[in-house]
Amino acid sequence: MSTENKQVVDIENRRDRWRFTCPNGHRSWEPTNHHFWCQRCARHREVDGVFYDLRDRKTGELLDRDKVRLKAGVENYHGGIGQVVDDE
Ligand SMILES: [Zn+2]
Repeated sequence: MSTENKQVVDIENRRDRWRFTCPNGHRSWEPTNHHFWCQRCARHREVDGVFYDLRDRKTGELLDRDKVRLKAGVENYHGGIGQVVDDE
């Protein structure tokens, strides 16, 4: 519905890293343009590591990529420090 309701996830914030995981509970995920990718999941032969819903361990909810607003804190991710990355 409203874009104001997006959950901000700071992928460089340790607390957010612990809170938000891939659906299998791994913290080794990375955002991509339209979904997420998990390194640990990708190690399994039958899956490629791509997933679409980030798991919020605090609430148990699954957050669709569209509902997540990613905040990156380091320069190696799409450039820019503290930049909010979104794919609009
Ligand atoms: Zn995973």
